Amino acid sequence: MDYASFYRHSIDDRDAFWAEQAALIDWKKPFDRVCDYDNPPFAKWFVGGQTNLCHNAVDRHAATHPDRHALIFVSTETNQEVTYSFRQLEAEVQRMAATLQSLGVKKGDRVLVYMPMIPEAAFAMLACARIGALHSVVFGGFASVSLASRIDDATPELVISADAGSRGGKIVPYKPLLDEALTLAVHKPAKVLMVDRGLSPFTRVAGRDEDYAAWREKHAATVVPCEWLDATHPSYTLYTSGTTGKPKGVQRDTGGYAVALAASMKHIFCGQAGETYFSTSDIGWVVGHSYIIYGPLIAGMATIMYEGLPTRPDAAVWWSLVEKYKVTVMFSAPTAVRVLKKQDPAALSRHDLSSLRALFLAGEPLDEPTAKWIAEALGKPIIDNYWQTETGWPILSLCNGVEKADSKFGSPGKAVYGYDVKLLDETTGEELTAPNQKGVVAIEGPLPPGCMQTVWQDDERFVKTYWSSVPGKRVYSTFDWGIRDADGYFFILGRTDDVINVAGHRLGTREIEESISSHANIAEVAVVGVADQLKGQVAMAFAVLKDASRAATPADALKLEGEVMKLVDEQLGAVARPARVRFVTALPKTRSGKTLRRAIQAVCEGRDPGDLTTMEDPGALQQVKDLIQG
Ligand code: ATP
Ligand code: MG
Repeated sequence: MDYASFYRHSIDDRDAFWAEQAALIDWKKPFDRVCDYDNPPFAKWFVGGQTNLCHNAVDRHAATHPDRHALIFVSTETNQEVTYSFRQLEAEVQRMAATLQSLGVKKGDRVLVYMPMIPEAAFAMLACARIGALHSVVFGGFASVSLASRIDDATPELVISADAGSRGGKIVPYKPLLDEALTLAVHKPAKVLMVDRGLSPFTRVAGRDEDYAAWREKHAATVVPCEWLDATHPSYTLYTSGTTGKPKGVQRDTGGYAVALAASMKHIFCGQAGETYFSTSDIGWVVGHSYIIYGPLIAGMATIMYEGLPTRPDAAVWWSLVEKYKVTVMFSAPTAVRVLKKQDPAALSRHDLSSLRALFLAGEPLDEPTAKWIAEALGKPIIDNYWQTETGWPILSLCNGVEKADSKFGSPGKAVYGYDVKLLDETTGEELTAPNQKGVVAIEGPLPPGCMQTVWQDDERFVKTYWSSVPGKRVYSTFDWGIRDADGYFFILGRTDDVINVAGHRLGTREIEESISSHANIAEVAVVGVADQLKGQVAMAFAVLKDASRAATPADALKLEGEVMKLVDEQLGAVARPARVRFVTALPKTRSGKTLRRAIQAVCEGRDPGDLTTMEDPGALQQVKDLIQG
């Protein structure tokens, strides 16, 4: 079928379309109703049906292909490489599930997972799904304060953690951070289940802390059947990255999510059972949930769980895994590609990448220089796809499993089936239907299966945050700007709060950033709008150089600044020219790798930068402060 018809079918015959997709998973009990949207914007999918995520990801494949690879754990930190077949994965998940039950976890309870990228983290997530407990994975890089706030929000019965992670060969102890978080948190989980990797000695709190190795032995042969859950039963909660403010607790369902992921594996990622999928994300992010754990496994693929840096022992490590495990589908982020770009390009050509069909990238704008570099280096299709923690799977992409399409540089592709994507005029809320008009990317309700059900414990925030931006209209706002060309390809221009207004001209910070990064010596740049008495706002740029010695002296820096300004003048016009271009060695980012423009902007305007619990490196923001005050 051609994609245009496939897409129309998904929107015009919504229930029929999703009923067809629902056949991709196993159901214990068939659903009575495909979509209940009687109480918008709350959508209920596959009402009356019963299924289980773990059954679909593990048991059904263990029954038909027990010896196929399921989970491939690779750590370049501890030099471990362990492969679990579906049969072995099923056994490990049952041991974990039995342990959870022994420790009092019941259906509907929350289990907070604060772990490095180790197999036990995957077992924990799948074990929760198996017994109907909700996992709430908190990225292992977060420290006590961020962790404590998430413990208080999720109010888990149990926390699963490990002694330590490791990053770049350095041991990062987790237990002291967890202990501190549990002191800070108001909510006190009854139990803490510890996986001891033997990396970092830790103290146990008697009566609270349990040892997983001992429980695992005890449950060597315990059978824990999958709990059949209503399709609408929540499967997990997960926080957004916190780029624009306080993170939101996204709650997802069971049946809709399973169907959405199964369909995306077929139509978007084109992954086949028996093949290997490699996503370089972390289980702490939505990509890790959907495309390290659930998506590939539901499709019967082996999934690689990688602990380590992309550059250690050298920049070829990912590609060596592609060769070794015959990876067919790979998923990463532009930020990771930019890291590789700074390394030896020959790293890619040293390995046989013939198994690989495509590299998917998501999470932030894919700038053209980076896209071109990786496309040329790999010689494979690069598929940019756009989505959010809230949606759980791509909103914009190419659906090559339906009909092959070419990508366009700078575009994450077309509206994905199921998403009734609209561009809305910012002020009037009117739909923009003509091509090449700039508007807010919005989705007409109901959101398709797999998207957020609500904000955890806060229906009001769900409605207020996402569905109230256009007065009088119930439409979901992504808070991103976009443009759609005549062929239906979208271009994301940045976040709605990343638009600046210089003397009445509205400019996307991303356009200015693209222009600046076309300078040969700029590795990365962030542009923010800063309040200005005369012009309303002016653009300020903070750039990271490929070769820092080019701005070693103030005179050098000024010369380079002049070059960059000239470039912007030529490409976009003088109105887009930043008031200043300053050079830093790193940009402030969230731990998921997104530039914290709002923090830079606040510092430039002398305001409090707000919630910084998701920030990676405080030193980077300090550099901005020093430049502003200096
Ligand atoms: P918060 O919502 O807490 O401020 P966040 O929006 O960064 O944080 P995520 O859900 O991790 O949280 O990120 C989704 C956002 O990332 C999108 O709304 C968009 O701004 C950006 N994004 C994701 N993929 C792409 C892409 N392919 N191109 C451009 N932008 C993207
Ligand atoms: Mg967001």
